[in-house]
Amino acid sequence: MADFRSERTMHKTTCSGCKEECEVPFKPTEGRDVFCRDCFSKQRR
Ligand SMILES: [Zn+2]
Repeated sequence: MADFRSERTMHKTTCSGCKEECEVPFKPTEGRDVFCRDCFSKQRR
């Protein structure tokens, strides 16, 4: 696992993939799917 969380602002949200609470390095937009890093890497299109 990479050491990703340093001084970045993290926002708590619920992942649309695994439905788990997670933190993302960007501001989640309401009504839009947000994925944790794990799901995001799997969902890459
Ligand atoms: Zn997820």
